[in-house]
Amino acid sequence: MNDRTMILTESEARTRWCPVRIGAYAGPAAVNCLGSACAMWRWTEPLRLLCRVPDKCVPYAEPALPEPARPDGVPSSWKWTPAMDPQDDTGGVWLEPVSEAQARMRGYCGLAGKP
Ligand code: SF4
Repeated sequence: MNDRTMILTESEARTRWCPVRIGAYAGPAAVNCLGSACAMWRWTEPLRLLCRVPDKCVPYAEPALPEPARPDGVPSSWKWTPAMDPQDDTGGVWLEPVSEAQARMRGYCGLAGKP
């Protein structure tokens, strides 16, 4: 196995055995990597949320206007987030949930240094 294969998504890492937890063996489910719940986990990239602006600009309004027509391809899990700045002429964006963005991020166990 080369070093590149040790950079994983968190869900991939959680399928692998942890060398520390194996020392206190308490059954197969208790020896897997904890991912970002462990102090040794290191991300290789920053969190980046995807977003999508409306096809037609929505004027800024206080209180915020309701969600405009959702364009094709914007997942139902993405939340409409009205613009907070009157200078923002998009009117808002659909924003990907943090959990979905984090599922794409990759990292590694820092126990033995950087891969
Ligand atoms: S990040 Fe490393 S030390 Fe932490 S649980 Fe995963 S394999 Fe174990």
